Amino acid sequence: MTPPVECPFEAEVLAAVLQGWWPQRAAAGLRTHVAGCPVCAGVVAVGTALLEDRRHLRSAAVLPNAGRVWWLAQTRARRDAAAAANRAIDLGIGAALLGAAAVAWAFLPVQEWIVGLAGRIGPGGLPIVAAALLVLIFLPAAACLAFSRD
Ligand SMILES: [Zn+2]
Repeated sequence: MTPPVECPFEAEVLAAVLQGWWPQRAAAGLRTHVAGCPVCAGVVAVGTALLEDRRHLRSAAVLPNAGRVWWLAQTRARRDAAAAANRAIDLGIGAALLGAAAVAWAFLPVQEWIVGLAGRIGPGGLPIVAAALLVLIFLPAAACLAFSRD
């Protein structure tokens, strides 16, 4: 014969255990039933263990200081706002670099003029003109990149 696996009083017994009524404030009839029912006795054993575990966890839990929680929230809000502002600045820097590249692309047709200018300067004129153009075009872009890292 197999022992019963369910009992109609299971839920009632479990509720009494988990709400802390067991056994003092439980009905006398329910206590008598649990004394003779192996299913409800098991429910009492498991429920009592769960209740003790919950009490232990509650006593061991440490709540953080409210001031610290507020300070961390403020710090995070400031950091998020700064990140959002930096995204807009990075977008502007990207647009500026794109504009600088467009200007450099526009200067390609004047390459002959540059070579002519270098020829008028002298034999070492081309490196001088090229260096001057590089400084004029890439120095502002490099400055933008350097200051955007701050
Ligand atoms: Zn039972």
